[in-house]
Amino acid sequence: MRQLWILVSFLVLLGMVFSTLDGTLGRLKGTRAVEMPELVALVEKGNVTAITIRGATITATTKAGEKLTAVGPERSDHYVAWFTEHGVVPSFKRTEEQWVQLASVVLPSLLMVGVVVFLFRQMQAANGRAMSFGKSRARLQAQGGQKITFADVAGCDEAKQELEEVVLFLKDPQRFTRLGGRVPKGLLLMGGPGSGKTLLARAVAGEAGAPFFNLSGSEFVEMFVGVGASRVRDLFEQAKRQAPCIIFIDEIDAIGRNRGANVGGGHEEREQTLNQLLVEMDGFEPHDAIILVAATNRPDVLDPALLRPGRFDRRVVVPAPDLRGRVGILRVHAARSPLAPEVDIERIAKGTPGFSGADLASLVNEAALFAAREGKPHIEQLDLDRAKDKVSMGAERRSLVLTPEDRRRTATHEAGHAIVARFTPGCDPVNKITIVPRGFALGLTESLPEERHTESRSFRLAMLALLMGGRSAEEEVFGEQWSGAENDLQRATRLARAMVRVSGMSAALGPVAWGSHSDDDTPRFGGPDYSARTAERIDEEVRRLLDEAHDRAREVIRANRAALDAVVEALLETETVNGEEFERIVLAATPGLAAT
Ligand code: ADP
Ligand code: ZN
Repeated sequence: MRQLWILVSFLVLLGMVFSTLDGTLGRLKGTRAVEMPELVALVEKGNVTAITIRGATITATTKAGEKLTAVGPERSDHYVAWFTEHGVVPSFKRTEEQWVQLASVVLPSLLMVGVVVFLFRQMQAANGRAMSFGKSRARLQAQGGQKITFADVAGCDEAKQELEEVVLFLKDPQRFTRLGGRVPKGLLLMGGPGSGKTLLARAVAGEAGAPFFNLSGSEFVEMFVGVGASRVRDLFEQAKRQAPCIIFIDEIDAIGRNRGANVGGGHEEREQTLNQLLVEMDGFEPHDAIILVAATNRPDVLDPALLRPGRFDRRVVVPAPDLRGRVGILRVHAARSPLAPEVDIERIAKGTPGFSGADLASLVNEAALFAAREGKPHIEQLDLDRAKDKVSMGAERRSLVLTPEDRRRTATHEAGHAIVARFTPGCDPVNKITIVPRGFALGLTESLPEERHTESRSFRLAMLALLMGGRSAEEEVFGEQWSGAENDLQRATRLARAMVRVSGMSAALGPVAWGSHSDDDTPRFGGPDYSARTAERIDEEVRRLLDEAHDRAREVIRANRAALDAVVEALLETETVNGEEFERIVLAATPGLAAT
């Protein structure tokens, strides 16, 4: 097979020699034809001093004075910005007719040269001499050196628990599958910048003793179509050779942005890269023992194709740390530096709500620098306090920091949901309440839902009351309304409309499915398929359901104000309250209430 190729390329070469003899080519004497990737690599290395663009032909002069020509994409002027960014401002030449004529001779020759170069490269690659272009730039974490384990990661116990399984799998893939474990394939870590996503992924590799490939999504997306895709292909090839291993792709949103949603250039490249990634993910089998971990702080913009089963179907939230988490993280980082005995880590943790893991790491680092500058033998409280101020003022902080008023209001809102859930029959038990911001939400109340496939009317009425709990608590405590409840109100309204229009759960409208089953009332043409009078009655009925739910929530809050206040204080103190703690607080604040 190889001999055949060589024969073919020989013939091609022969043909080229003849065409070179043709006088027209005299003008290009002294230039060397290269492939686009090679040219790109040279520009990236800063070896190109000048570039002339003539239609699709790019002529470049290297530092050494060599002239190169490459056939670019159809419209090479597309890449002016890229070249300029890399320090070479291209000049333009018109494609005049004589050039077109010349091109008709040159282009096929260049193509042939391309074929030869390609063959040559194939052979080179076979010889194991890798060409770096189009190769993935994944950095393989050194096996020796500093090994990171779960002990180095503090404050995200839930995420760690989820990742335990991955560690088990990587340690012994066969055993894991024999025991009937569902093999994870792709894992998506979601959390803000500096929340420790990279650290977690490294820790998984460290715990399992597996190689770790680290790459950023933005590194895949290059100006030239096809390069990213070839990097992906190469990355997986490398990984397969090193399996069991972990591939970590930071900022997956750089490649995985919703394909419909992007505007502007460069998306063809991104799409190809994304497609290649999907192909590779679908192509590897459990016995390949490769785990793909991706990180993003914008899960909302990801292409749904990435989230489908068998791809990044496991999602792990890496939240900003709460008080306990911050204490843990500060301890981890302070363990490496000498602390004065009187230092109070808890106090620092209390004073740093909203700090990310990375913020806390740099806080300890700054404190060590302050101490060192003054020649102290260890870090004192004063150093930590100053470092805290520096980090919270500093431009590097990007995470959201709440004012004390914001925190109290958020705590009241969340406690309101939880109290209504606790005292409304039919609601699921409260699992967790937190005022640590996540994504767009300032706080969160989580319940432990039972498995249910259908929902009763009374359950939905309880849900409506629960959704009103946050707003009701704010009104009851502060006598004011805030925009923070908008999302609750939307959800409640949607649920109430569905009850009335779709589920036949309103006596006034009867057991009728009014209109389409979709959420909105706007069919493609004409109005809704019920009368205006019915529309009015639906609105009234929705309003009545929501008013009643609101009244019920306020009653519950009023009747259990002491419990609400106790929960608010606990939230302000520790930021997260779990189900058991919540129950304990409520019992302590409510005399006569029996434990359930
Ligand atoms: P991300 O990838 O989420 O942006 P990183 O994992 O790169 O964040 O975190 C940056 C640094 O911040 C880490 O190297 C570590 O020093 C520190 N850090 C972040 N989160 C934690 C944590 N939970 N425990 C200990 N250190 C942390
Ligand atoms: Zn709410």
